[in-house]
Amino acid sequence: MAINPAEAPKGRMMINPPAVEPTDSGWYLTSGTDLPLVPQRGETRCDVLVIGAGWMGLHAARRYGELAPDNSVVLVDAGRIGNNASGRCMGFAIDLAHNPRKKDFIEDIQGNKDELYTNLDGNAYLRSAVEELGVDCDWDPQGKYHSAATDHGVADLVAFSKALDAMGQGYRWIEKDEMQAMTGSSHYIRALHHPGTILIQPAKYLKNLARVLPRNVTVHENTVVSTARFGTDGHVFETASGVIRAKQVILCASGYLTRFGIFRQTAIPLHTFASMTRELTPAELARAGAHEAFGLIPANSFGTTVRRAQNRLFLRNVYSYAPDFTITRQDVERAREQQMVAFRRRWPDLAGMGFETSWSGLLTLARNGGMVFGELAANVYGAAFCNGTGVSRGAAFGKAVAELALGRTSPVIDILRRKTPPSRAYPEPITGAGVRLVTARRFRQAGKEV
Ligand SMILES: Cc1cc2nc3c(=O)[nH]c(=O)nc-3n(C[C@H](O)[C@H](O)[C@H](O)COP(=O)(O)OP(=O)(O)OC[C@H]3O[C@@H](n4cnc5c(N)ncnc54)[C@H](O)[C@@H]3O)c2cc1C
Repeated sequence: MAINPAEAPKGRMMINPPAVEPTDSGWYLTSGTDLPLVPQRGETRCDVLVIGAGWMGLHAARRYGELAPDNSVVLVDAGRIGNNASGRCMGFAIDLAHNPRKKDFIEDIQGNKDELYTNLDGNAYLRSAVEELGVDCDWDPQGKYHSAATDHGVADLVAFSKALDAMGQGYRWIEKDEMQAMTGSSHYIRALHHPGTILIQPAKYLKNLARVLPRNVTVHENTVVSTARFGTDGHVFETASGVIRAKQVILCASGYLTRFGIFRQTAIPLHTFASMTRELTPAELARAGAHEAFGLIPANSFGTTVRRAQNRLFLRNVYSYAPDFTITRQDVERAREQQMVAFRRRWPDLAGMGFETSWSGLLTLARNGGMVFGELAANVYGAAFCNGTGVSRGAAFGKAVAELALGRTSPVIDILRRKTPPSRAYPEPITGAGVRLVTARRFRQAGKEV
């Protein structure tokens, strides 16, 4: 995908900094020692600058560094690695997402095959970080349980199973008794186990990968890129205390990519929220079922995602539209109340303990579900907008965009280049009103799946 040259950004552009999340995530707070903090200072010259150190950016930097060991790679992030949206996620590295909102999900066999191929490539790259580079992240390849608490949830799962049948994918139905034994909760009436998804501690993975990036990759956290000037023979970026001159740039800044003058007015920033309990006592753990760890994806996408990990429970739900990307502590508090409702529904005898911490995180959507991948202008590459499933995709997109920047080809690059780019959002207040209406309605309809 190359953008219309007329749209290519020209001149020195001011870039608004990304919003700061009001609280740290539970994953980040339990992810061990901080990385050494080295913000960028003075003048830096590099072959490639990667902006954004989430799933996309870290894997772009890793791949570029591996394939071009004589080139210098600089990776910058406005915040701390692991405390961005990537580290705030629920840690499902999903091979095949269940997308009941996509009208042709069951019929779109080729689309699903492409998605699976891309995500498996991403998961293989994640796995190689664990197995070859020793990245500790509580790697757990147990798959995911699509879990239903209502009859309409079960109907959604039956529809999903038809798509899996059409793709020749194996799965197993789990009935209520088995779910209760596994989770200690009588809330779920049926579930579908689909193998292939890997559960990880996301902040741990990201921080530990940053520690073992190739030697030609230099990482600068707390480094906001505040201006950009794109040129045909190199680009110049200013930070708070310096300047970076790069021959190529790879933009992995999620929705903030639009602030670089690219795909303007396409990002629809949604936030979703999660909470984590304190560590459960042995007696409490016994009431949370027989499995030490599990990951439950709600049958309805507006339902509650659950993980048991690190002897704690993690619950995620609620979507909130934030046109300026900004979330307040009050927004996190309101979402926490919904997570308490979900906690009480599932484990009424444990919910009294409440949550130790709650947080929000950014998802970037486009009106048409489009994603950014490819050469966006001369020597400007980008990968962004992974909707709700950015772990496996992020690893695959990041790896592929670095290969593309180095002139390589691959089947994943071919697939990603065919993807529809994001379309412009309707102007405000239409987008805001529409997103708020739909999210409120779908949340209500999800009922006890929340
Ligand atoms: C609560 C929650 C649960 C989720 N659960 C899952 C899940 O289980 N599985 C899954 O696949 N997906 C999940 N997601 C979605 C997933 O987290 C995102 O799709 C993914 O993190 C996007 O990765 P990214 O690398 O594109 O962007 P980000 O992680 O958003 O990284 C972009 C980075 O760019 C940096 N940046 C932006 N502008 C600048 C600038 N001017 N200068 C310097 N740096 C800049 C930002 O600081 C940021 O760190 C979840 C999301 C949330 C919020």
